[in-house]
Amino acid sequence: MSDTIELTYENDEGEEITLVVPSKMEVCHDCGGHGFVLNESMRYHAYTSEDEEMHDPEFREEYFKRGGIYDVQCPTCKGKNVLAVPDEETINKNEKLKAEYEKYTEWQEEQAQADAEYEAECRMERMMGC
Ligand SMILES: [Zn+2]
Repeated sequence: MSDTIELTYENDEGEEITLVVPSKMEVCHDCGGHGFVLNESMRYHAYTSEDEEMHDPEFREEYFKRGGIYDVQCPTCKGKNVLAVPDEETINKNEKLKAEYEKYTEWQEEQAQADAEYEAECRMERMMGC
């Protein structure tokens, strides 16, 4: 199996670079390989003992049942249960690819950090009532 995926990142000059790397299939981290996730409104609704009293056992059953009425197709894997992820083992065997891939992961970390900072800022602003 020699699947590849494209990774796009920006280099220091702000140029968009597309990197093609070997990929492998991995169980989707979002739905845990179920292909379904609870729909948005239910997803962040923690199941509490209050619910236990309020709702009948059918609700409880559906809530915990994957693929039940509260589930929607997983947006991450599109219901396929698996995701193509960079095959780091194969990448590391190729010096040139490894160097390129490292640049990509660095960029990705920077992005994640920037996002986290932005979110923290938003939270602060909300708390201050702006
Ligand atoms: Zn998924």
